[in-house]
Amino acid sequence: MLLSRDPNRCPSCGERVTPFAAGCALCGADLDPRRWQPRPSLLQQLFARTRRPGDT
Ligand SMILES: [Zn+2]
Repeated sequence: MLLSRDPNRCPSCGERVTPFAAGCALCGADLDPRRWQPRPSLLQQLFARTRRPGDT
């Protein structure tokens, strides 16, 4: 692949797209609006656990 997974660019043609665009304006490729949403990281899971001491 030429392009890395840059959410600012269309994965198909490389055109700049807005972060929340549902599709590429140039080539019409479908873009996933959720690509910007962070997944619950391992770190967050650890923090959630430490909030409940004595729960082990
Ligand atoms: Zn495109």
